[in-house]
Amino acid sequence: MLGRVINATGVLLHTNLGRAPIGATALDAMLEAAAASNVEYDIDRGARGSRHDHAGDLLARACGAEAGIVVNNNAAAVVLVLAALARDREVIVSRGELVEIGGGFRVPEILAETGAHLIEVGTTNRTKFTDYSRMINERTAMLLKVHASNYRMIGFTQATPVSELTGTGCLVVVDAGSGLLDERTPWLAQTPAWLRDEPGVRQCIEDGADLVTFSGDKLLGGPQAGIIVGRKALIDVVKQHPLARALRADKMTLAGLQSVACSYLDNDATAIPLWRMATTTNEELHDRAEAIIAASGLAARAHIAASEAVAGGGSLPGLTIPSVAIAIRSSNVDATLRHLRVEHRIVATARDGEVALDLRSVDPYDDATVADALRASGE
Ligand SMILES: *Cc1c(COP(=O)(O)O)cnc(C)c1O
Repeated sequence: MLGRVINATGVLLHTNLGRAPIGATALDAMLEAAAASNVEYDIDRGARGSRHDHAGDLLARACGAEAGIVVNNNAAAVVLVLAALARDREVIVSRGELVEIGGGFRVPEILAETGAHLIEVGTTNRTKFTDYSRMINERTAMLLKVHASNYRMIGFTQATPVSELTGTGCLVVVDAGSGLLDERTPWLAQTPAWLRDEPGVRQCIEDGADLVTFSGDKLLGGPQAGIIVGRKALIDVVKQHPLARALRADKMTLAGLQSVACSYLDNDATAIPLWRMATTTNEELHDRAEAIIAASGLAARAHIAASEAVAGGGSLPGLTIPSVAIAIRSSNVDATLRHLRVEHRIVATARDGEVALDLRSVDPYDDATVADALRASGE
């Protein structure tokens, strides 16, 4: 049965566990919208309105773009942009950015599906501006940059930044993937070190991208969705495309994202669980671990261990977030892990021959449940 689990893996955006947890504030908004709501109704005029007038525009404002639209997920956002703006025309992509995101989403195949013609330029490790500019002709629809979310290239590499791709007369579209709204994270007291290199949507827009697509449930921290922001004239074209209807988001998603957008507009991320998890101090995690171990009665077999959490969700590969775990000695680690999963719906991991529960991905609300489960597993 699909239902709640406790994520003690330390992977904050766990793809198999529903990626970003949705916060109470956004959930309230989703519940409000679940009944009759003005999703396609203009309250002021008492007439038909557009579902795109709510979350899309707020998210656009939150990252400094002219306009925005929300669809089912980022894969759908990319499909819609290509279908609406590049069908039967050429799309130039660096060979270093022809990525597979996972779940069968491969950039070259998606391009082919939408009827766009892929023009590969550069090499795997280096693509210069002239590699793009040489291939531009009257059939070119856009230069597409795809963030290599889930892998990292080091060494003799070169990519051409968005700021260098503008001014050719072709559209510049960025699939930013993770949905980090602003590299400077004004909604946090301090920008976490592990966010380095992750492109901000606001920065892509400032650098001159015409459109940027990103996920709602990765680093944005909202419900599953795909968001397209950018120039209003282009967003209007995208909205008119028949696929926009097929790929649209439902009223609850739109309400949840609207709430998330308002949090960002207020520069206050305390309502977004992802940022709470990401910025909890290790002292706090340590205190929680101590309390859980004491309440579980497992002090003889459990100890507190340094751990490394990760953002997950196919973002920020190789970058870890210092964290704290409860480590439990067990004569049969696999059996204990299975017991925690099946009897208590707690997903933990094996580490150094012990059972490890990383607390950074666990909501403090669930600490008592974790303690109870550990007590039961020790009996
Ligand atoms: C995650 C990701 C996608 C797919 O987004 P979904 O919201 O999972 O559909 C597409 N492109 C990039 C670069 C991504 O990181």
